Amino acid sequence: MALLKSAGDLLALGHDCVLRGDFSNANEKYTEAARKFAKQGDMMGAGVASSMAAVIAIGNQMSYPLAYRIASQSLNSLGNFTVKVGLRDVSAPQLAAELVLLGDEIELLANYPMNPLGHKEKAQALQALAMRFKTQLGGQVLVIPELFTKVVTTGDSKAIPLMAMAEEEFGKCFILYDPKAAAEHYQSARLWWMQAGRQDMADAASINVRLYGRSARCWFCGREVSGEGIHFLSMPSDLTELLKKTGEGSALPAFDPASKSIYACKGCHGAVFRLADDIALRRTQELEQRIAVQLNEIRAKIRNFGPRGT
Ligand SMILES: [Zn+2]
Repeated sequence: MALLKSAGDLLALGHDCVLRGDFSNANEKYTEAARKFAKQGDMMGAGVASSMAAVIAIGNQMSYPLAYRIASQSLNSLGNFTVKVGLRDVSAPQLAAELVLLGDEIELLANYPMNPLGHKEKAQALQALAMRFKTQLGGQVLVIPELFTKVVTTGDSKAIPLMAMAEEEFGKCFILYDPKAAAEHYQSARLWWMQAGRQDMADAASINVRLYGRSARCWFCGREVSGEGIHFLSMPSDLTELLKKTGEGSALPAFDPASKSIYACKGCHGAVFRLADDIALRRTQELEQRIAVQLNEIRAKIRNFGPRGT
C-alpha cells in the first residue's frame, strides 16, 4: 500500500469530505490534489481539483460575489465536463452559470438606491435577473444553496421573490409623484410574495397598498391628495358634530371619525408645524427673559443680605 496518496485519491477524499459536510478538509484535499495533478502535467485533473476547491471556498464567504465569480471562471475553463458536488453530478457550465447568477443577485440586493431613477433601475435589473434564473436554470435544483444551507430551490422559485422585490422598487420609484401607481405595484408585490410563500412580506406590502392607495381632502385648503403618510397626514383635532357634517356630500374624507383627526396635505401640515415651532420658540425666549430678570433680583438680594465689610 502506497504511503503517499495519488492526486486521484486526494480528489476522491475531497468528495468524501464534501459528503460529510467537512468543507475545510475538502478544500485542503482538493488544493493538494490540484498541486499533484499539475506536477504530473495532468492539467485537466488540476483544473477539476482547483475548480472544486474554489466552489467549496464559497462556503466561507457566501456574501462575497467575488468568491462566486472566481469559482465560475475556474469551472468555465473545464469546458463541457461533469463535476461531482456532494451527491450531485452537475455540468461545469451549468454550475458556472448558477454561480454568476448568485453573485449578481448578492451584488444587486446590496445596492440601495437614493432616488426614483435609482429605484426604477434596480427594479428593471431585478426583473432581468429573475428572467435569467428562469431561462438559464428553470426547474433545476441550485447546487450552492443545497450544499451550504440545505435549502432546496430551483431557478424558477428563485425568480419569484426577485419579481416581488422588483415591484416594490417600482413602488418606491412612484411614491413621490404617483402614489396610486405605487399602490398598484405594491399590490403586485403582495401577490408575488404570496406565491413565494412569504406571508410576512405580503402583509408588509399590503400596508403600503392601503396607505398609498388612500385619498383624502385637505381640511385646510380642500386639495384632493392620495398617498397617506407621504402626501397627506392626519393631525389630532377637536371636531364638533356640526363641523363633521360640513364634510357630507364630499367624495373624499377630510377627517377620520374614528381618531378625531383631520387630514392635512403635506403643504398645509408643514406650514402649521413651522408656525407651531415659531410660537414655541418665542414662548421659550420670553420665559428665559423672565427667569433672567428674577435671577438678577435674587442675586441683588443675596448681595444686600451678605456679610458686610468687617
Ligand atoms: Zn392643504
